[in-house]
Amino acid sequence: FAARNASSLLRTAVKPIATPSPAPLRNFSSSRTNMGKILAVLYDGGKAASEEPRLLGTTENVLGLRDWAKENGHELIVTSDKEGEGSEFQKHVKDAEVLITTPFHPGYATKKILDSAKNLKLAVTAGVGSDHIDLNAANEHKITVAEVSGSNVVSVAEHVMMTILILVRNYNVGHEQAVGGKWQVSDIARDAYDLEGKVVGTIGAGRIGYRVLERMVAFNPKELLYYDYTALPDEAAKKVGARRVEDLNDFLGQCDVVTVNCPLHEGTRDLINKDNVGKMKKNSWLVNTARGAICNSEAVAEAVNSGHILGYGGDVWEVQPSPASHPWRKMLGPHGRGNAMVPHYSGTTLDAQKRYADGTIEIIKNYYAGKPQNPANLIVENGEYATKAYGQRKKGVAS
Ligand code: NAD
Repeated sequence: FAARNASSLLRTAVKPIATPSPAPLRNFSSSRTNMGKILAVLYDGGKAASEEPRLLGTTENVLGLRDWAKENGHELIVTSDKEGEGSEFQKHVKDAEVLITTPFHPGYATKKILDSAKNLKLAVTAGVGSDHIDLNAANEHKITVAEVSGSNVVSVAEHVMMTILILVRNYNVGHEQAVGGKWQVSDIARDAYDLEGKVVGTIGAGRIGYRVLERMVAFNPKELLYYDYTALPDEAAKKVGARRVEDLNDFLGQCDVVTVNCPLHEGTRDLINKDNVGKMKKNSWLVNTARGAICNSEAVAEAVNSGHILGYGGDVWEVQPSPASHPWRKMLGPHGRGNAMVPHYSGTTLDAQKRYADGTIEIIKNYYAGKPQNPANLIVENGEYATKAYGQRKKGVAS
């Protein structure tokens, strides 16, 4: 109950993050048509999607958009084919008016691709996190980028809690024994700890990071810390008892558990790298469900393999789908511990899919009706960043 109150507090008190005064969506009256070409790049659902219609984020079920698009005379192109010049994505983006992409199977909208997209007015991220779109290029072309803010933040916060527990309690080693017909308790317990009494810190204390802090309170940690250039309002910080640490190395040196919950932008790429991963406490844990490229792949794998940190886990990878050779697939600490990686799915639970599918449709309907968008969903608009979450921008440089 208290946690719910704190969430509402954060929504009302902290989240002017993305709230410039409600301005109408770009006036496209000269260029927006009532019927247009919508291109959706989503992941294939295969057999699962035919059996489970709630898999809305798939090419098969296309966010529940198909009937609406047809009834309103829009041309809807749906594909998962996204890599290379001959891909359906690169072919159709050239004359699409609206582009839908998803972080789970990202259509990487590079500057070159956006330069080629002569009719593109609106890029909607079905989910949260628009780093797969070159936001500076979107600004240059005055393409509006919107995401369904908040749609899967609980889904991710729960996944963070799960991953932390899997690592801290050395679950994987125990599970492998259980299904492999083995029983050697000491081999599990030698790397298993309680979460209670640990120092837990989040990089980024926005919607997800704050929800992790809220959930963490129940585990009775020694202390909760956060590292974010935006301070939590005093009351929100007090509610969860979180202390802000302004220097990253200082923060890393104090945490037993670090959870990464900030967007990927120029200022957070490689934020955890070979120079500072050694500043993490020996025998600590690192969890990243934000974006793979925030943590340097080689540096993290080395820290796990060498045993400096007890484990790394998350669901996000620098390039998705991730190649079979990625070091995070095989990394393993001493005694087989410390790998809690999964494919990118934390924010695409069936509950989350319903929310981001509905949100995507609403954004597109607003666009075609010429209605203003919910300011919280806007990432870039009218050639400018509409949110403060994608970097503190001084003279165009993010930090
Ligand atoms: P949010 O905008 O509510 O919060 C982001 C916070 O990060 C903000 O408080 C911002 O100030 C902070 N931040 C930005 N740059 C920073 C920096 N350099 N150092 C420290 N803090 C910084 O966003 P959110 O809804 O909490 O989502 C955060 C990110 O999580 C998304 O951008 C996305 O990349 C990721 N995400 C992943 C999944 C998934 O399925 N794994 C789903 C949703 C979101």
